[in-house]
Amino acid sequence: MTIKELQGKIREFSMVHNLDSAPEYKILDTISELGEVAKEMLKMTNYGKNKMNFREEMKLEIGDLLYSVITIANSLNIDLERTVDAVLVKYEKRLKRGSAGSEND
Ligand SMILES: [Mg+2]
Repeated sequence: MTIKELQGKIREFSMVHNLDSAPEYKILDTISELGEVAKEMLKMTNYGKNKMNFREEMKLEIGDLLYSVITIANSLNIDLERTVDAVLVKYEKRLKRGSAGSEND
């Protein structure tokens, strides 16, 4: 499945199930889902006391996060395939200057 197909699949799912909301609420939902990924990482390490012990639950939390990011892109009519290509070009330029971090902009 391409990113474009994934965006379409999620757009249709959101419409069929009447899950649409304003982009600002989608952003809050995405932050909430990122928190759930962080919580899962804490569980997988027993709050940093142990080496990471991967749990299957992390897959679903990452999936929730991806879904919510895609709903933001959909609501703003952002083509994620083009956007990811542009981001990779940006990172390539930064790496040539020494690091992928934004300090090189
Ligand atoms: Mg979640």
